[in-house]
Amino acid sequence: MTGITRETWEQRARAWQIQGQAFINGQYQNAVGGETFDCLSPIDGRVLAQIASCGQSDADLAVANARATFDSGVWSRLAPTQRKQVLIRFAELIEQHGEELALLETLDMGKPISDALAVDIPGAARAIRWSGEAIDKIYDEVAATAHDELGLVTREPVGVVAAIVPWNFPLLMACWKLGPALATGNSVVLKPSEKSPLTAIRLAQIALEAGLPAGVLNVLPGFGHTVGKALALHMDVDTLVFTGSTRVAKQLMIYAGESNMKRVWLEAGGKSPNIVFADAPDLDAAAQAAAGAIAFNQGEVCTAGSRLLVEASIKDAFVEKVAAALKAHWQPGNPLDPNTTVGALVDTSQIDTVLRYIEAGHEDGARLVSGGQRVLEETGGFYVEPTLFDGVRNDMRIAREEIFGPVLSVLSFKDFDEAIAIANDTIYGLAAAVWTRDLSKAHRAAKALRAGSVWVNQYDGGDMTAPFGGFKQSGNGRDKSLHAFDKYTELKATWIKL
Ligand code: NAD
Repeated sequence: MTGITRETWEQRARAWQIQGQAFINGQYQNAVGGETFDCLSPIDGRVLAQIASCGQSDADLAVANARATFDSGVWSRLAPTQRKQVLIRFAELIEQHGEELALLETLDMGKPISDALAVDIPGAARAIRWSGEAIDKIYDEVAATAHDELGLVTREPVGVVAAIVPWNFPLLMACWKLGPALATGNSVVLKPSEKSPLTAIRLAQIALEAGLPAGVLNVLPGFGHTVGKALALHMDVDTLVFTGSTRVAKQLMIYAGESNMKRVWLEAGGKSPNIVFADAPDLDAAAQAAAGAIAFNQGEVCTAGSRLLVEASIKDAFVEKVAAALKAHWQPGNPLDPNTTVGALVDTSQIDTVLRYIEAGHEDGARLVSGGQRVLEETGGFYVEPTLFDGVRNDMRIAREEIFGPVLSVLSFKDFDEAIAIANDTIYGLAAAVWTRDLSKAHRAAKALRAGSVWVNQYDGGDMTAPFGGFKQSGNGRDKSLHAFDKYTELKATWIKL
């Protein structure tokens, strides 16, 4: 906590001239076509800024600059130690501008300012710093050859990377891509979500100040069907990295096939099971975590624990505990108030989606335990109460489809096998959690769960040292850790006759 009050944050926000232009080759500029769109704050619905609405011409310009910069070697051929120094400086500047970036993020997408300060900004800086620090500690390989040959197995940057990111953790998701992409020497064109472009636009200038050469990081705000599609179909983009919905992820694979077969790496949706066995070590802690798993970031989290699977013998008592935790700790409020834990949903269409799913829960016969209403409408903002449904079956819409809002479905199970069967009965495979004091049961569950991350006796663990990504339709490839570097490099075998 910074001790900054809501009034001070509001004053700072009012005094601000927010930058909304595209950033190409080290310069802010309007979209080539001159078009703009309104950037609305979900806190109160007011217009924050006019944002450049980029399209095909901007994509062409940014990719051409990224290509020229890459070919010049000004970044791509810099010694890893030097790239490291720039990235560490970049991370430091993100931290120095932390309050400004946190305020932009909160104004733009409605998350609590306390979370932006505690989670998004430090996480973004760490992603950049960790990748920078790693890059001069990685070695290539020498193959096992005959005596008169030398086989070198080396990694090279792919070239021009297009990164398309979502609005739920705008800066953090961008930095999960930028860290390894820049560390390995690529040039990047970043397209933030049209719902949350502000921190990405600001970040480009900060990177330049840190010493990243002009043209290495370009930022194109705009819509998915315009500039996003133009980048995905571009013949001179080598690799496309994406975080967003499974629906768009599938479309991007088609675009790659229709164009230049660019590499496509996808971090997509989830419907993660949180399994509580009767022998959980601390049921109160498990209930608190289950509440946080659906209410943190307004439930707009790819790994949200949106299916709570509880062993039948403790189910009713456990649901009461979760309801109490939601009531006590997770009620919506103004995101600029430092005590707020649940902010505003990102926009009206997200509110509509969440309310439609709450309706679907009723229609399909689930029992509403708490929440279920839009609230604080008088503010002009977009707030929904965290909502708890009991008596959910895994074939109901609220159990099958990603809602991306604070709606929790409780299902019960009789035994281990049934828990795992329900947990894995989904098209997604991003994350799962299991609560038990039985070490063997925890390991058996972790092996059986088809998910990229499994948490035991906690929800949402991990950091830059561990890979993050999904099985099944939650995506391919991994962000974070050294495994992320695979996405941004090509392997080359050089075979020398001595
Ligand atoms: P989205 O798929 O609607 O949009 C993501 C990005 O893709 C945006 O920048 C958007 O403009 C762009 N886009 C949309 N259509 C496009 C097209 N035809 N061509 C090119 N680009 C296009 O997702 P969202 O609503 O911004 O984010 C929510 C989704 O993100 C959820 O499904 C969530 O699970 C997922 N997510 C996944 C992870 C992860 O690491 N797996 C992390 C965060 C969010």
